[in-house]
Amino acid sequence: MDTANSSAANPLREWALYAAGMGWHVFPLRPGTKIPTGHAEARCPGTGRCADGHQTPEKRATTDTAVIGDAWDRAPFNIGIATGPSGLVVIDCDMPKDGEDGPTGANRLEWLAGECGGPLPDTYTVTTPSGGIHRYYLAPPGSRLPSTKGKVCRLVDTRAWGGYVVGPGSVTEQGAYDLTDDRDPVELPGWLVQAIAESPSPAISAPVQIRSVAPSTYGSVALANECGRVRAAQPEQHNAVLSSAAYTIGRKVGAGLIDHATARADLITAAAHMVTASCDCTDREIARVVDAGLAAGARNPVAHRKDAA
Ligand SMILES: [Zn+2]
Repeated sequence: MDTANSSAANPLREWALYAAGMGWHVFPLRPGTKIPTGHAEARCPGTGRCADGHQTPEKRATTDTAVIGDAWDRAPFNIGIATGPSGLVVIDCDMPKDGEDGPTGANRLEWLAGECGGPLPDTYTVTTPSGGIHRYYLAPPGSRLPSTKGKVCRLVDTRAWGGYVVGPGSVTEQGAYDLTDDRDPVELPGWLVQAIAESPSPAISAPVQIRSVAPSTYGSVALANECGRVRAAQPEQHNAVLSSAAYTIGRKVGAGLIDHATARADLITAAAHMVTASCDCTDREIARVVDAGLAAGARNPVAHRKDAA
C-alpha cells in the first residue's frame, strides 16, 4: 500500500529502484536539478556519515533497494547514477552552445566512429533536456576508465569513474531525461576504450612522424613492446590491454610498417595466457578482440616517411 501510494506520488522513486534493478549504483540529486544532495567536499564537516572521510556521491551510491526506497520516500529526488561503480561508461554527446553552428556531439562521434572502426553499436540510450544524448556502454571488466571532457572529440564527454549521469526519469526545469532505447548496454567498442584511456587520442592527434628509422626495425620493436604489455596484463585488464595493443599495432600495420599476419599471430600468442580457469577469456574472444583492434588501427595509420632508410 505504502509503496503504491508513494509510487503514485513519486514516480522518481520507481525510476531510482528501476536503475538499481539494472545493477546501477544510484544516489539522490536535489529535486529538479542535476546537483547531488548533501555538502561539497570543500565544506565537509567530517562528522556523521563523513566521520571516516568525506563520502562522495560515488561512494554513497548504492543498489540497496531498502536504502533507496527510504531516501526517495523523503522527496522527489532526481536520480544520479555513479557510472564507475556501476560498470558503465556513458558517452555524453552535447549540442553546440547557444548561437553556435556546426555539428553536434552526436554527429562528431558518428564521424569519428567511421574513422576508427565503427559503426557505433546501438545501446541503452537516454536523451537529455538540451537535446544531448547519453549512450550507456559496459566498461571493459575490471577497467577503471576515467571521466573525460572533450577528449574523445569536441562536444563529447565520457562519464565513468569520478563522474555520474542524471538517470532516466529525472526532470529539470528544462525538461525530462527520456529513455529512448532500453536494450541492455553493450560493450564499449575497443577504439573508444583506446580514445578514453590514452592521451591524447590517436584518432584526433596530429599524425606521429617517424623519422630515419628502418620501417621494419621500428615495426618489429613496436610489436615486441605491445606483445610484452599483453603478456603482462593482469586478469582484470585483459580486454582493455589486448584491445589497445591490437589498435596500436593496427595503426602500424595500416602504415605498412608491420605485416598483418605476423602482427595477428604474435598478439594472439602473447594473449594465450589470458585463457585460464579464473577468467572468462576464450581463444575465440581473443581472436575477435585482436582482429577488431587491428582493423580499427589500420583505418587510422601512423604517418611515416615511406622513403626513409
Ligand atoms: Zn563530507
